[in-house]
Amino acid sequence: VDFALGTELARYQERVRGAVAEIVAPDARESDEKGEFRRDVIDRLVATGTPAWGVEHGSMALSLFYEELGRADSSVRGFFTVQLGLVLTSVMVSGSAEQRRRWAGPLAQVKEIGCYALTEPEAGSDARSLSTHADRDQAGWVINGEKHWITNGGAADVAVLFAGSERGMTAFLVPTDTPGFEREPMPGRELGHRASGHVRMRFRGLRVPHEAVLGEVGQGYQVAMGALRHGRLGVASGAVGIHQACLDACVDFGRRRRQFGQRIGDFEMIQAALADMKAELDASRLLARRAAWLLAAGSEEAAQALAVAKLYCCDAALRAADQAILIHGARGYSSEFPVERYWRDAKGMQIYEGTSHIQRVIVARSLLGKEER
Ligand SMILES: Cc1cc2nc3c(=O)[nH]c(=O)nc-3n(C[C@H](O)[C@H](O)[C@H](O)COP(=O)(O)OP(=O)(O)OC[C@H]3O[C@@H](n4cnc5c(N)ncnc54)[C@H](O)[C@@H]3O)c2cc1C
Repeated sequence: VDFALGTELARYQERVRGAVAEIVAPDARESDEKGEFRRDVIDRLVATGTPAWGVEHGSMALSLFYEELGRADSSVRGFFTVQLGLVLTSVMVSGSAEQRRRWAGPLAQVKEIGCYALTEPEAGSDARSLSTHADRDQAGWVINGEKHWITNGGAADVAVLFAGSERGMTAFLVPTDTPGFEREPMPGRELGHRASGHVRMRFRGLRVPHEAVLGEVGQGYQVAMGALRHGRLGVASGAVGIHQACLDACVDFGRRRRQFGQRIGDFEMIQAALADMKAELDASRLLARRAAWLLAAGSEEAAQALAVAKLYCCDAALRAADQAILIHGARGYSSEFPVERYWRDAKGMQIYEGTSHIQRVIVARSLLGKEER
């Protein structure tokens, strides 16, 4: 076992860190406050070549990319997790030769934006119970239904869209300018990930050709779950980034803030919190990297390891953010300091791409197996 990243990956990590510090971090607070999806920030990051290098070099490189992004801005990290982890993966793994020819390049280079439309008002964790329905006729398919909470949805050029059909759930690759494809911003204000362009989508008589089917008719659930493995690596790695940002903020604050005539970092209770945060951070990072390694190796253990990583890393990041707010005192309770944003973003990560409850279900089922009757 070698825990070192190796020269190439270590250099890449440095390069991503530099690009994120220069391009993403400075605007993170403003985008969050304005709830503004920042295409310009994404384009500038793409121009550094760092996302493309990650795609080319696989899961471990992408895990490092997501971690560095998560440290600065979870909305931008979420953008890339959906674009590369969910949408590009679906096209590469399940797409026809023509779908790959048309979409893989523009998605990998982020010339076109993708979204992943699975969740519906009445179908969240129970993703098999979709109401959106696709009916087949001679010319193709007609889709009717509704989705909500779709990340990147406002800017997306193409959607991986899941619908029930007479032969079970089916995935479709649908340009968002197809007549009958409607979208509007989600009502209310999100707790976190405010710059993610979440939308509600409605499909009214949305007509697509037979060639829009992604994978096999009736195999949509497999397409959805296959992509979610890659997405979960993005979420787990992004959570490690938030956790690291919390620790960095607390160490800095613990050195600078003085009370009772000493640095607050010299109080044993603060030290215990910092030490626990560091121990959990190390555990999280190892779990995320192990999951990346198993995913890259195509191992059968990957699904369980990804669920473990998503569960642990997101819960641990939230605990770290919770402690970080307390350690910052009243300052932590204000958007003047970033730790409250870390908490709001980490909370969302316990929910999407399978809630923490659902990750526990996946892990427990993989341990127990099906009862033999
Ligand atoms: C920031 C954000 C971004 C998102 N982006 C996308 C996106 O891009 N595309 C997309 O399709 N969706 C997206 N979603 C939706 C997200 O995937 C769903 O919210 C999530 O799957 C949970 O579904 P739900 O909200 O309907 O909750 P429900 O499924 O209704 O769950 C409610 C509660 O019941 C629990 N529960 C449900 N079933 C079980 C069970 N079997 N055992 C134990 N507990 C259970 C849940 O864990 C939860 O606590 C996003 C959500 C958020 C918050």
